[in-house]
Amino acid sequence: ASGYNLLRDPHHNKGLAFTEKERDAHYLRGLLPPAVLTQELQEKRLMHNLRQYEVPLHRYTAMMDLQERNERLFYKLLIDNVEELLPVVYTPTVGEACQKYGSIFRRPQGLYISLKEKGKILEVLKNWPERNIQVIVVTDGERILGLGDLGCQGMGIPVGKLSLYTALGGLRPSACLPITIDVGTNNEKLLNDEFYIGLRHKRATGQEYAELLEEFMTAVKQNYGEKVLIQFEDFANHNAFELLSRYSSSHLVFNDDIQGTASVVLAGLISALKLVGGKLADHNFLFLGAGEAGTGIAELIALEISKQTKTPVEETRKKIWLVDSKGLIVKSRIGSLQHFKRPWAHEHEPVKELLDAVKAIKPTVLIGSSGVGKTFTKEVVEAMASLNEKPLILALSNPTSQSECTAEEAYTWSKGRAIFASGSPFDPVNYEGKVFVPGQANNAYIFPGFGLGLIISGAIRVHDDMLLAASEALAAQVSEENYEKGLIYPPFTNIRKISAHIAANVAAKVYELGLASHLPRPKDLVKYAESCMYSPLYRSYR
Ligand code: NAP
Ligand code: MN
Repeated sequence: ASGYNLLRDPHHNKGLAFTEKERDAHYLRGLLPPAVLTQELQEKRLMHNLRQYEVPLHRYTAMMDLQERNERLFYKLLIDNVEELLPVVYTPTVGEACQKYGSIFRRPQGLYISLKEKGKILEVLKNWPERNIQVIVVTDGERILGLGDLGCQGMGIPVGKLSLYTALGGLRPSACLPITIDVGTNNEKLLNDEFYIGLRHKRATGQEYAELLEEFMTAVKQNYGEKVLIQFEDFANHNAFELLSRYSSSHLVFNDDIQGTASVVLAGLISALKLVGGKLADHNFLFLGAGEAGTGIAELIALEISKQTKTPVEETRKKIWLVDSKGLIVKSRIGSLQHFKRPWAHEHEPVKELLDAVKAIKPTVLIGSSGVGKTFTKEVVEAMASLNEKPLILALSNPTSQSECTAEEAYTWSKGRAIFASGSPFDPVNYEGKVFVPGQANNAYIFPGFGLGLIISGAIRVHDDMLLAASEALAAQVSEENYEKGLIYPPFTNIRKISAHIAANVAAKVYELGLASHLPRPKDLVKYAESCMYSPLYRSYR
């Protein structure tokens, strides 16, 4: 009951917003200067301070300090200034923060589980102060954003993702648990960095890796039950597909890099149909990049077409072609393909170059997901424009420097005919007097609402139909006014409302599939989702 401790508890601290009565009741007299500020005024002051920092990383550390000091104020800022602060607490700034995590490290956030904790993971989970966990975001740091292996310093990612779960999806902060699994790193620079915070050896692989993950997954279910959502984040693709398929029948698991990306891109395609016309089944798709993003998106498109046309997915996959670093994925390559690429090996001559693949496949939709920039050249975009009245071009690779082409290039080279969206944000483009606003296929549209939908229905398993439900709900949030500007995603300012609609549609699917444990089913799921969402407003303490 000491006021001093109250001021140091980020879950309850309000700083100068403690009222006179609260100051009396909680032994705060003298521990604060006399002024009493409103939360709005505190927010105004902090935003003003934040904007003074020129260096993005300084804004990031200022936000992390705030989260450590006054959690509700942190979320109030994030929610009210989402477009401005998303790039600070998440990509791109979080990437730089992870790279420098060792030197900016202050207080630990989240839970670290390394090979040293083998055999004791359940005990480690019990060291975490909160009991009621609803969402875990876990990484092993091997493929952080487009930055590669950052080992233990990947912790910035689960921390950042979970703050978006709360700000955008309304999950309670205390129900969110960030975890980093440290099995070593192959990043020489980190291994030689005296400030590195992780295990200083090469990555464990094979059985040693599998055993640690198995122990982890078992301990999580044992400690938190069947309804805790485990989101795998930024695992390298050789582990990501494997973990997702191994645990999807025994745990509530979701991989944002595969499934979240797929859902957000499918939503963009569904809404783009309003601009280009036709049904999804009328289109042909070509991907550059056949990894987590590429094959994840491809599979969800095939599923959606399969549902719409009542055709087996084995058939609908044939409308979708992928190019990897060795060229077009074709039947003759099947023996040497990783298993997640095999469903996409169709009958065709080998084709090495993207431009030749465009000419051979004649896609209506071109999607870049290779992580390599500047690959949608003038020739490629012109070929798309000569094949299609309104070519749909998605340049998903991040960060901006890796984008397949810029928004300006897409509009200019297609003479203003392309429908364009990208992974990293681009400013609006003025082409011959008309302003085009490129959309951003940001996963943050989907995962917070998706997770909320699972949680409020008490889902025990994730099913692909729930991803389709999320895509449809997001596409339905794009307004006529948005379409007029060429936008295929709604603006981020309404994200909490969008998340509530996604959550409701996902939850409806969970109930329909009989995978819900929260019974009876609430009548109005949108209202119910909204009523469950965390509010960052201060509570009064008596
Ligand atoms: P990944 O699993 O490593 O897959 C990369 C794929 O690209 C692999 O199939 C690789 O071929 C292929 N590739 C690499 N270099 C190539 C080249 N020069 N030409 C043709 N193909 C090439 O990575 P990921 O997780 O899918 O992510 C890929 C990119 O998508 C990243 O830049 C990421 O930031 C972006 N992304 C965007 C969003 C979004 O916009 N919302 C979401 C997720 C990811 P091999 O298999 O032959 O090596
Ligand atoms: Mn990710």
